[in-house]
Amino acid sequence: MYGKDQWFRVRPILQESFLHTQFAGEHLADWQGFMEGAINTGEEAAEKV
Ligand SMILES: Cc1cc2nc3c(=O)[nH]c(=O)nc-3n(C[C@H](O)[C@H](O)[C@H](O)COP(=O)(O)OP(=O)(O)OC[C@H]3O[C@@H](n4cnc5c(N)ncnc54)[C@H](O)[C@@H]3O)c2cc1C
Repeated sequence: MYGKDQWFRVRPILQESFLHTQFAGEHLADWQGFMEGAINTGEEAAEKV
């Protein structure tokens, strides 16, 4: 769960890749908290790989 203002300040940082590692999960998605967000970010991470 994001705290106040973290949606705009923390989420963009968590979305960044690190070296060859891509991150995915509902916590990074516009559909935060839902399966849709988990799937969307998973697909995006797979495309980057
Ligand atoms: C009770 C409940 C009901 C829900 N109902 C709905 C619903 O009706 N519709 C909907 O769209 N969404 C629903 N959700 C939300 C949905 O379940 C989540 O948004 C989705 O599962 C998130 O997927 P994820 O892959 O981002 O994370 P997760 O499904 O949490 O997957 C993360 C995985 O990483 C693993 N993991 C953690 N740490 C490590 C580690 N160090 N090493 C290796 N593996 C690790 C965990 O074991 C887990 O398997 C519900 C959630 C809950 C809790």
